[in-house]
Amino acid sequence: MGVGGGQGVTAPLVGIDLGGTSIRAAVATGPGAHGTPVHRDTPAEQGAAAILDACADAVREATGGQTPEGAAIGIPGPLNPDTGVVSAAPNLRGLEGVNARDELSKRLHCPVAIQNDARIAGYAEWTLGAGRGTTQFIFITVSTGIGGALVLNGVPHQGAAATAGEVGHMAAGITGPACGQGHPGCLQGVASGTAIAHEAAAAVRSGTATSLRSVPLDTLSAVDVQTAAHAGDELACELFGRAGHALGRGVGTLVNVLSPEVFAIGGGLIHAGDLLFAPMRKGVREIAFEEPLARCRITTAALGTDAGLAGAVEWAVLQFGTTVPSGPAQPPPS
Ligand SMILES: [Zn+2]
Repeated sequence: MGVGGGQGVTAPLVGIDLGGTSIRAAVATGPGAHGTPVHRDTPAEQGAAAILDACADAVREATGGQTPEGAAIGIPGPLNPDTGVVSAAPNLRGLEGVNARDELSKRLHCPVAIQNDARIAGYAEWTLGAGRGTTQFIFITVSTGIGGALVLNGVPHQGAAATAGEVGHMAAGITGPACGQGHPGCLQGVASGTAIAHEAAAAVRSGTATSLRSVPLDTLSAVDVQTAAHAGDELACELFGRAGHALGRGVGTLVNVLSPEVFAIGGGLIHAGDLLFAPMRKGVREIAFEEPLARCRITTAALGTDAGLAGAVEWAVLQFGTTVPSGPAQPPPS
């Protein structure tokens, strides 16, 4: 059925959110709504077949064993939605070079659409969350890595290679720590959770006085740094200050370039609150022009951790639903 259709065919439409540690799947139940998510651990170390088997297993539980009408999956890393091939997956290395669309389609016996996870989360924020009703919208998600999505003139912007929206890999400086892809001075190398954790570990190793010395270095995460910063640790505060400042300069740059109506910031690091947002606002102000900044509402994402799954369900409805999708109209042919 289509969502909200109710007549005739009843095969479910399914969304899947594939993350580095867990998989969630859910069935579309109405416009912008989905059923209770089914969870699986991601067998991230066991290769592509095991990961896709786990996704298919979660889908079967979500549909109660019914063959779906169609499924959409958000996958971390650059990929080509047109060919179905994942080109890089830093946290799920076995998926690199795999045609995840065709492999999952074989397992589910239905058509499958794949999309970058941040693009899909941004799509949900646009259709259901902070960007609802806008035609110029930017989403940035700051967690382990930094991803994003752009909506320009009412259309999700894909670019010539269908990879547009990699806001985490903007230049943040000429030199500086490299991101996981090896770009020197890239925003992800300074402002992501991974970057904050790396910087903290380096400072501990070099003998800096900090409460983080009591945390085992091999498990030291951005959450530990956040906890220490909230308790007043000077190094931890400084690391969030630096990350927030760089993030703000990135946001300000995008405000200058694209003049969005709404700029939504999501991802796990937003739980740091003003530790991140105070330096971020300073960074925005020092680089953005007054006029586009005055016309832009910078806000936290509305859907929280549900954005990835909600977006995948929406994407399945948009791609394979047989009734009118609940989100904005599909992009017009260019
Ligand atoms: Zn990069």
